[in-house]
Amino acid sequence: FNVPAVRNEPVKNYAPGSPERDLLKKALEEARAKTIEIPQYIGNKEIYSQNRRAISPPHDHQHLLGYFHEGSAEDVQVAVDAALEARKTWAVLNWEQRAAIFLKAADLIAGPYRAEINAATMLGQSKNAYQAEIDSACEIIDFLRLNVNFMRDIYSQQPISSDGVWNRMEYRPLEGFVFAITPFNFTAIAGNLPAAPALMGNVVIWKPAFTQVYSANVIMKVFKEAGLPDGVINMVLADGPVAGDVIFKHPDFAGIHFTGSTKVFQTIWKTIGENIAAYKSFPRIVGETGGKDFVLAHKSADPRALATGLVRGAFEYQGQKCSAASRAYIPSNLWEEVKQLMLSDLEEIKMGGVEDFSNFVNAVIDERAFDKITGYISKAKGDENAEIVAGGDFDKSKGYFVRPTIIRALKTDYVTLCEEIFGPVLTVYVYDENEFEKIIPIIDRTSPYALTGAIFANDRYAIQYASEHLVNAAGNFYINDKPTGAVVGQQPFGGARASGTNDKAGSVLNLLRWVSPRAIKETL
Ligand code: NAP
Repeated sequence: FNVPAVRNEPVKNYAPGSPERDLLKKALEEARAKTIEIPQYIGNKEIYSQNRRAISPPHDHQHLLGYFHEGSAEDVQVAVDAALEARKTWAVLNWEQRAAIFLKAADLIAGPYRAEINAATMLGQSKNAYQAEIDSACEIIDFLRLNVNFMRDIYSQQPISSDGVWNRMEYRPLEGFVFAITPFNFTAIAGNLPAAPALMGNVVIWKPAFTQVYSANVIMKVFKEAGLPDGVINMVLADGPVAGDVIFKHPDFAGIHFTGSTKVFQTIWKTIGENIAAYKSFPRIVGETGGKDFVLAHKSADPRALATGLVRGAFEYQGQKCSAASRAYIPSNLWEEVKQLMLSDLEEIKMGGVEDFSNFVNAVIDERAFDKITGYISKAKGDENAEIVAGGDFDKSKGYFVRPTIIRALKTDYVTLCEEIFGPVLTVYVYDENEFEKIIPIIDRTSPYALTGAIFANDRYAIQYASEHLVNAAGNFYINDKPTGAVVGQQPFGGARASGTNDKAGSVLNLLRWVSPRAIKETL
């Protein structure tokens, strides 16, 4: 049960003049110089269809990165057949051999593919170099390596035996195939959702978000180069409902590994329920979904730390993190100082394309997101219950740019304090500094989500009180830190309530969902 020791992959800083910056710049230039064709990967084939869809950087409508080839219901059926065929050998392979493939994939991303996967994330998803390094390269490497350790821990959990009896547990893969559906915002999540069930011996149909296909293609290339057998992970590029229509009716559908919006997960769960009698097994349903993540400050908080936590927590990657700080409750004694600190930070922040590494803010993912986000901002501009404190302007002529925006809400149930916007919008509510205990139940009940949350305070009583009384309001709780940036293996990630099934990605808990154990008693 020995596997290589792991530590988190060190983050490169891409400082001016550094060799890694030169490599990344070169990868960006090479990617921009090409027009690529992205196929579906099904069994041992790369499938090119008649139905091509163009891919452009969200920050640069004029540039064409390439095309992806959209799949059909028939392609999904072929993918399921290929997966079930591959299962015959994959499910019985030694775990060490499966581990070796995914450890090799991690090494490929850490080394020769690092610049390519970061460049693809930057261009395809409009994510700056520093965020791409953390959220794509390092996080996927950590998922792949740490999951091998967690798998080893699971297999080592064995029952006791007695005289003349040898008891043991076999952690078999699920009977059938797993469907992985992934979101646009984290390349690492897109890689982990198919990889984790596959590591445990399952075969997978993977449907990435159409807005993430450009970096998904690099992940598929890495898995193949690492030696993943054909058919173990099949990347289909069919529309979600089209793929779902085939998969959710299939008797061998054994589990879903989903990350995305609450609404889509609810639709999927309902469809699975309607088809439940069609399946051989009760499917495993694992979903990490939306958030309306809070920052609560106590009157004893450090204003500088709080302002930094809010600006970074709310506006890194344009607020398009499920964990982004999107609502803040600030005591009246701190508001003016924190506001001034945030305004001066925002003045320093540059917005533009990812090719210029000094741009902290880039574009939001697509027109649908742009319209949704700017709809909330426009509404706030004319609303007597809201005041625009910073930003508020947007422009989609060259790319989908939305200036980081702070709204001050004048009532606790103002819409932007309750609904997930998934963009660079932070809503602040200023409460009476002496009413700390009264604001807590309001935070708890004004949003249905429970993903991340943070308390900023120097007073230990306040920290303890918030921690106890917001116990169900966040699956990941931060004390004196922004609510984003969970590190695999350090802060296992996931939320409850409308934020998902809380199976903690990158942990033993998650991997256990992908096994169907058999207990064996052998009389000697
Ligand atoms: P989304 O719109 O829900 O899409 C997620 C995935 O579901 C995409 O691959 C999408 O495909 C697919 N899909 C859409 N409708 C479907 C259907 N009817 N049947 C099957 N699949 C379907 O989410 P997103 O915009 O990509 O990501 C943002 C959301 O993800 C936010 O709500 C965010 O909070 C959440 N998120 C949560 C976590 C977490 O850990 N809790 C992490 C990251 C993101 P198409 O692209 O083809 O539509």
